[in-house]
Amino acid sequence: MGDFACSRCAHRQAEDAQCGRCGNDVVQDMRDPSARRVLYDAESRWQKRRQARAISIGAVVGLVPFYPACLAGGAIIGFGVAFGTGAVAVAVIDRLLGNRRRFPYLDEYEKTPG
Ligand SMILES: [Zn+2]
Repeated sequence: MGDFACSRCAHRQAEDAQCGRCGNDVVQDMRDPSARRVLYDAESRWQKRRQARAISIGAVVGLVPFYPACLAGGAIIGFGVAFGTGAVAVAVIDRLLGNRRRFPYLDEYEKTPG
């Protein structure tokens, strides 16, 4: 544990030095509100990337039943099945990946003044 966090890999350490895990030159002092803003920004970018990944995986998963459903029921059924499967896949992947916080310890610093 420690007051410094790496914005790249979320490693937490006690010294204001190079990141001990990924070697990033700069670590953020979480006692400093502007440094916390940098980490919150990094977290929201990271979550958007995960969401985009979930959607692209869901689109690919949705294509799997597209052709068999087209052959069985025609193009409209095919699109419906593909869309439904893709939407379910996105929801499942998002549930599995999307809700994890990268810097869960940041909120502790918001509560303690100074
Ligand atoms: Zn790091």
